Amino acid sequence: MSEIITIDGPAGAGKSTVARMLAKRLGYLFLDTGALYRTVALYLKEKNAIEANDETIERLLQECEISYDGKELFLNGRVVTSEIRTPEMSELSSITSTKRVVREFLTGLQRKIASGRNVVAEGRDSGTVVFPHGKKFFLTASINERAMRRWRELKDKGLEVSFEEIKKSIIERDERDSCREIAPLKPAEDAIIIDTTDLSPLEVVEEILKRII
Ligand code: C5P
Repeated sequence: MSEIITIDGPAGAGKSTVARMLAKRLGYLFLDTGALYRTVALYLKEKNAIEANDETIERLLQECEISYDGKELFLNGRVVTSEIRTPEMSELSSITSTKRVVREFLTGLQRKIASGRNVVAEGRDSGTVVFPHGKKFFLTASINERAMRRWRELKDKGLEVSFEEIKKSIIERDERDSCREIAPLKPAEDAIIIDTTDLSPLEVVEEILKRII
């Protein structure tokens, strides 16, 4: 039987780094579900449909093909791996991810990708909704630490953004993700919560491994 480990939490809690390292260590597929939400947001932006109604979005999503080869992410055959990593796409994905049609579309896609495989999935509702039978972890960190990590990440990519702006946008995104009606960001009841503020990614991975082996 295939095994699923879910790692959820707010922006900048270290989910991606930790999930990627853990997946590598275990030889599992790393499933970055935020990247899927970002890709849908990019698709809807290009169709001028960010604010469209559910019916229109549902129709458009019938022609939205997203695939992931374990490294690159494809939107209708085009590589979008770096294009989705901008502050604008962070913002837009957090808006479009509140929509039921988008969540249903991506919940199905995530389960399809994971089917029959060992997976480390990271996101917001991986443990609560998408993979309720997984081994669940929820990462947190102080807002300053999370904003600093995101700021460094963007700076390393050559994007000049002010720390205060990043912090503000993370607070807004957390608020939207936690307060939305469908699949809000929250730890599953049986999730193990890890505060990563003073931990290195490797220390978090070791902590998770201790709990699953
Ligand atoms: O994790 P990342 O920052 O890439 O996610 C971008 C946005 O996608 C989040 O702010 C959230 O609104 C949305 N998301 C979600 N459910 C997931 C993963 C991401 O709603 N499982």
